Amino acid sequence: MTDDSRTPRHGFATRQVHAGDVRGDGINSRVTPVHLTAGFVFDDFAQAEDRFSGADDGFSYTRLANPTNAAVERRIAALEGGTEAVLVGSGQAAVTVAVLGLLQAGDHLVSANSIYEGSRGLFLDNFARLGIETDFVVDANDPLAWELAVRPTTRAFFVESIPNPKNDIVDLALVAEVAHRHGIPLIVDNTFATPYLLRPLEHGGDVVVHSASKFLAGHGAVLGGVVVAGSTFDWDGTAADGTARFPHLTNPVRSLGDRSFAQRFGRGAFLAYARDVVAARLGPTPSPLNAFLIQQGIETLSLRVDRQSSSALAIASWLEQRPEVASVDHAGLPSSAYHELAQRYLPDGQGAVFAFTLHGGLEAAKTFYDRLELFTRMTHLGDVRSLVLHPATTTHAWRTPEQRAEAGIAPGLLRLSIGVEDPADLTADLAQALAGLPRAAAAPAPDAAATADAATADVASAGSGATAPAPTSASARSGVPA
Ligand SMILES: *Cc1c(COP(=O)(O)O)cnc(C)c1O
Repeated sequence: MTDDSRTPRHGFATRQVHAGDVRGDGINSRVTPVHLTAGFVFDDFAQAEDRFSGADDGFSYTRLANPTNAAVERRIAALEGGTEAVLVGSGQAAVTVAVLGLLQAGDHLVSANSIYEGSRGLFLDNFARLGIETDFVVDANDPLAWELAVRPTTRAFFVESIPNPKNDIVDLALVAEVAHRHGIPLIVDNTFATPYLLRPLEHGGDVVVHSASKFLAGHGAVLGGVVVAGSTFDWDGTAADGTARFPHLTNPVRSLGDRSFAQRFGRGAFLAYARDVVAARLGPTPSPLNAFLIQQGIETLSLRVDRQSSSALAIASWLEQRPEVASVDHAGLPSSAYHELAQRYLPDGQGAVFAFTLHGGLEAAKTFYDRLELFTRMTHLGDVRSLVLHPATTTHAWRTPEQRAEAGIAPGLLRLSIGVEDPADLTADLAQALAGLPRAAAAPAPDAAATADAATADVASAGSGATAPAPTSASARSGVPA
């Protein structure tokens, strides 16, 4: 029996270690065990029959459900404020299950342009081959752009709450308003924010997806993904021509006794379908061992994200003052065009991943990248260890130079994912890697006295080479929650 009575009224940190716990299973192991088994014993003929008919909701086969995986699903649903969740083997599997749980051949998806490259590939290649077309909105905060992209066949909007590497925060309520006016659900990839910093369902999102491989698991050891749904979207809607918008949710099905998913599960119809028909059939089931490790990670989520997020802001402001750095894309910085949105949606921290661009372009980026000693060169993020990536030659390499320029991915741009290390050690590593790289040729910005002061301070300390930089006000602030 799920001990939900203790969860809704408790704070996030309490829920991250208690929500979804099971009591009264006769074993009472304190930590949900790893139920590493393909299937579960049927006591007798009648029970086997009942498990298949649904008359008995016990476990039968791990692809359909597993107690370890189910415990993680309940916990993540509780943290996101959703009613239910389905755990899958990766973030890409989560995006796939969410989209295929809503759209079919002939349907249309509208996505923000600034999204994870793997999701972009799914939309442009894989879903296109299945007859699902995607249009991309370049300015995700322009309601008219979403409005103009809607077709009679549009069945979902897709955004990321904190897109990377540019940290171009999305105004979720604004996008949700347009979506709902057209009877369309909004899917939000919340990987970078985590439910600790932002819960999209509270801002109009209808479906939340995560790569649990990142902050949720947090230790870079496993892959996982999750789809979470709230309980507000009405799946019964009809399109302008009177036909059902989501016929797979509203047509009767034999396995439900000739009732539809909407009749049987109400507003939970989408998640029931995504779980029982999409995930169970396509089979992206996570190993219960991976689910266990994700659960372990979640138990320290708020502590890690607090630390990583405040360190990231401190390091971003430190980098912004360096003469080798042309710009920093961190929504927590007052210089960011997304600062106001970040204050509104992410008051407790703006995440631990950001980018910065070197004056010296590609050559400087190469030198900097290869000099780093503490940062790990890796395509991953949300790890307890700090990581570095050069998007233009890796994640975004297959885009044309024009597309990269449009996305703000300059040749000198580097992405950092800040871990839980001591911030002073991280800035020391960055400082030794920056030493001697090309600096801005131009005079200081005319309007920013603070920038001019910082530049002077940097000139004064120039030549310190590989030694650790003197602490700045930014790094001194790093232990203070934002
Ligand atoms: C990593 C990532 C994914 C894909 O997740 P995997 O677990 O690698 O499959 C999807 N969305 C975002 C925002 C990601 O960062």
